[in-house]
Amino acid sequence: MLPTFPEMLGQLVAEPSVSSTSPEIDRSNLRVIEHLANWLDGLGFRTDIMPLPGRPDKANLIATLGGEINDGMGGLVLAGHTDTVPFDEALWQSDPFTIKDDQDRYYGLGSCDMKGFFPVALEAAATFANQPLRAPITIVATSDEESSMAGGRYLLECGKPKADYAIIGEPTAMQPIFAHKGISMMTIKLEGASGHSSDPSLGANALDAMHRVMSELITLREELAASTQNDAFAVNIPTMNLGCMRAGDNPNRICGHAELQIDLRLLPGMDSEHIHEILEKRIRAVVEHSGVSLQLQKAYPPIPPFQSNPDGELLRSLSDFSGQSPGTVAFGTEAHFMQTLGMETVVWGPGSIDQAHQPNEYLDKAQLAPATDTLRRVIQRFCMA
Ligand SMILES: [Zn+2]
Repeated sequence: MLPTFPEMLGQLVAEPSVSSTSPEIDRSNLRVIEHLANWLDGLGFRTDIMPLPGRPDKANLIATLGGEINDGMGGLVLAGHTDTVPFDEALWQSDPFTIKDDQDRYYGLGSCDMKGFFPVALEAAATFANQPLRAPITIVATSDEESSMAGGRYLLECGKPKADYAIIGEPTAMQPIFAHKGISMMTIKLEGASGHSSDPSLGANALDAMHRVMSELITLREELAASTQNDAFAVNIPTMNLGCMRAGDNPNRICGHAELQIDLRLLPGMDSEHIHEILEKRIRAVVEHSGVSLQLQKAYPPIPPFQSNPDGELLRSLSDFSGQSPGTVAFGTEAHFMQTLGMETVVWGPGSIDQAHQPNEYLDKAQLAPATDTLRRVIQRFCMA
């Protein structure tokens, strides 16, 4: 009923679906969604393609099988994103859009992060296509995870899917992940006025003001680190990296413009919106009477921190079936959205994040059969009578 694994992966990889905050390289994900919807139709799933508001070139897919016995209640979601990050063609040794089957690896853009999860999920689900299910199996495919999380946010807005459990199939080398930090990146822009360096009163020095902003940020960072620790993470405190600064042009001119980019990673349980508000208030206060204006720009809406129950049933099952103890990761996912929709959510999937977001991305074939087998056992446990 389904094409073979390499055929499915090959077709998904062949459809460019880069998502980016730069409109010139941002692409539609519809062709990827259509392939998935066709295969899932063929398995008897009820498929719902949901275009994103104002973005007819982007869509999510929700496909559901079974669950009639129990009025479609409960059940398990297998979720992934259909987009990829941009790529450096010159650094690839093969065509990023053609799957290269090379002994123990499949090379291709998105093979590991995370188009490869879909054929694994489909093969596992196909086993149950003609069996009565107590609770439904739902496959969710989202758009724009790598850029704005617009697809995940839209699911939350629509209040679907509804289920009891969700697996986000990001590449964790099949380690079940129950927590990750939140991530936000922002640019702080200070606009002063330039003038001759011999007389400071001729302008407003943006670098001087940035110095005060940076001191305040470092103080806030220390306060945040003192307020919250979580030993489930290798870096057990929230972090703030002052990553990049550009300012001024000449030593004999008052610096008229300065900008600083920071990356803030908060621990589960920290209220990111509240902390962003505090951050903005405090840096506004230190530049208030300096004659410099401040603008704060977020690179994209922040990815909220995520933590699910460390004793959760799904987490324990994935740990038993895949033989790996639960852990945490340093990258962000859509887990927060599924969790907020009421599901016990675990991040778990084949492939390693070490191969994601870089040239010659590949999926390790040795993980595919164990991953499919683990998903079958999870479906058996959570969806069968
Ligand atoms: Zn991913």
